[in-house]
Amino acid sequence: MSQDWAKEIKLEYDVIVIGGGLAGLTCANMLAKGGYSVLLLEQHSKLGGLATWFKRKEHIFDVALHGFPVGMIKTCRKYWSPEIASMIVQLKGIRFDNPQFSFTTTYDREDFTRILEQRFKIPQENIEAFFDTARSMNFYDDPSMTTRQFLEEFFPGHDDVHRLLMEPIAYANGSTPDDPAITYGIVFSNFMSKGVYTVRGGTDQFIGKMQEELLRNGVDIRTKCLVEKIVVKDRKAVGVIANGNMIKSKAVVSNGNLLSTIHKLVGDEYFSQSFLKEAKKVRLNNSTCQVYISIKKGEKIDYIGDLLFTSEAEKFDPQELCSKNTTSRSFSIYYPQTRPGSDMYSIVASAHANYHDWANLSEEEYRASKEELIQRTLDALEKYVPKIRDKVDHLEAATPRTFQRYTLHLNGASFGTKFEGLKISMGLSKEVAGLFHTGSVGIIMSGWLGAANYGVIVANDVDKFLSAGGVR
Ligand SMILES: Cc1cc2nc3c(=O)[nH]c(=O)nc-3n(C[C@H](O)[C@H](O)[C@H](O)COP(=O)(O)OP(=O)(O)OC[C@H]3O[C@@H](n4cnc5c(N)ncnc54)[C@H](O)[C@@H]3O)c2cc1C
Repeated sequence: MSQDWAKEIKLEYDVIVIGGGLAGLTCANMLAKGGYSVLLLEQHSKLGGLATWFKRKEHIFDVALHGFPVGMIKTCRKYWSPEIASMIVQLKGIRFDNPQFSFTTTYDREDFTRILEQRFKIPQENIEAFFDTARSMNFYDDPSMTTRQFLEEFFPGHDDVHRLLMEPIAYANGSTPDDPAITYGIVFSNFMSKGVYTVRGGTDQFIGKMQEELLRNGVDIRTKCLVEKIVVKDRKAVGVIANGNMIKSKAVVSNGNLLSTIHKLVGDEYFSQSFLKEAKKVRLNNSTCQVYISIKKGEKIDYIGDLLFTSEAEKFDPQELCSKNTTSRSFSIYYPQTRPGSDMYSIVASAHANYHDWANLSEEEYRASKEELIQRTLDALEKYVPKIRDKVDHLEAATPRTFQRYTLHLNGASFGTKFEGLKISMGLSKEVAGLFHTGSVGIIMSGWLGAANYGVIVANDVDKFLSAGGVR
């Protein structure tokens, strides 16, 4: 082990966490605080996973920081630090603009009740019953009811209301009207409790503070360190092979993509046929295209909302949302106050995408498709920021290929797997003792809040396993 990344690395740890996404980081932090020796291995050069950022000239672009529910404050205070929690602030202007409606809202229960009553003429009792039912949903409820059926029950025939209620959640976790209603109800209620929140200071500072906290708690962090294999002996995870070297541990937590954890990092030969049969049914979630737009120094943009959901589609259509030529996208607008001390503006446009639309393009086609994506995005933005092309300093696009490359998520999946992935993720340790998975799965456990909370849940499972002497 002479390489730099392995300098002073120990031969054995209590736990090895593979991946520095929000779930992996939170899990590692909890375990280190609990007194375990923890090694965190991240293949990229920085921590954060999808919660990442990059710099171009004087601009810093946030990749996955558009908004999350208020619950993130409590999660950060309880499992990270009051300082990290204090970076979280509310976004007040959530704007919708599509052929069916156009308005700005604070995106909370009070304001939605007003909008549903006044704008969509929904009777008060239906609104209340809808909110209360969504609020009472939990993971253990029957998953057979779909979100479509759920919305239809309270707002029959109102496809405009369905769109209002569904579209932002589709952006938040990739869910569709055909996914189980509980995945919708739980996430929607989380947002409706107090609106949409973000990090003041940017993802770089947020993850930077988490890294400091991990180091303070004694986590051994190694970046640029690819885990190639999880080593299993006698149906027990006993360590990993990283950058070609074996490192032992009593437990292994993978924060990588669930399906690559099973089929690639571990290997099918270590799982029972019945488990593999269920695992093969797990669908990946969709991916994303983004366009990063920075505004020239000295130029300003007027306030047009913090988060803008736009579409030219006549009705909400999950297929249109993911198609290569979609007109449905969200714009996150970062005003100077997002990063105190900065006078820069930037805008990040995000649209859902299917990996297969991008996977097999030749380099030339790929470049042309990215340019087309950028130009279509600017055309759409022109409506809200006139003469946008005169104001632009830097333009860049990311596609499902980009997300796959930087995070190793199969097909560049933005939100891990669909609902069925959660049971498989939770079932890993029953197949291989000491093997755990944490990270975006099952829709509920995705997004910043879901991923961080799942990190806590899995840290508790690992603690139980190790406290029992490392036996199943
Ligand atoms: C464009 C976009 C916008 C988003 N916007 C929002 C938003 O506004 N609000 C919100 O709440 N959520 C948003 N999300 C979702 C949210 O960012 C993710 O759900 C969450 O960050 C995922 O965390 P995770 O723990 O699952 O890990 P990930 O972020 O998926 O990280 C996994 C980590 O594991 C590492 N890794 C994988 N395999 C290996 C290996 N073999 N060896 C070493 N390291 C490995 C990867 O490099 C990566 O760092 C967005 C996602 C995308 C793509």
